[in-house]
Amino acid sequence: MFDEIMFRPWRIIYLQQEKENGCILCAIANSENDVQNLVLLRSKHCFVMLNRYPYNIGHLMVVPYEHLNSIGSLQEGEMVDIMKTVSLSMDNLKTVLNPQGFNLGVNIGKAAGAGIENHIHFHIVPRWEGDTNFMPVISDIKILGEALDDTYRRLKGVFS
Ligand SMILES: [Zn+2]
Repeated sequence: MFDEIMFRPWRIIYLQQEKENGCILCAIANSENDVQNLVLLRSKHCFVMLNRYPYNIGHLMVVPYEHLNSIGSLQEGEMVDIMKTVSLSMDNLKTVLNPQGFNLGVNIGKAAGAGIENHIHFHIVPRWEGDTNFMPVISDIKILGEALDDTYRRLKGVFS
C-alpha cells in the first residue's frame, strides 16, 4: 500500500536491521526508553511511536503490546483501544502538522511490503498536496534525524 507512495532510501537500512535483531516492536514495547524509541503514548493495549524510517514527516505507528501476526488474533478490547488510539493520533497530527490527508493501513505479509512480518501494527502517514516532490529534500539521514527529533518534541507536547 505504501510502497507506491514514494521510495525512501533509509527504509533499506531498517529492513536490514530488522532481519538481524528479531522483533524490534517487542523490544520497544518492553523498553523504558520511550524518548530514545520515539514512543509518544502508551495506552492500555497499544502504544504510539514515530516511525524512525518514515514515508513522510509525522509517520506514526500504532502497535499492540502483544506479538500477534494477524488482526483476527486481537481481542475485542485491543481492537477498540487500537482504533481509538489511531483516531487520537490523527487528531494530534492535525493539531501539530496540519496535514491535508492521511494514509491509514496495515501491511500484512512480505508481499504487501510488511517490514516487520510477525507483529502487526497500524501505519498513519500524514499527506500534503505535492509531498512526493517535497520529501526528497530530506533524503539525507542526518537531516531526517533532526526532523524526527523536532517532530517528536512537537507531537509529545500534544500527546502528553
Ligand atoms: Zn513482536
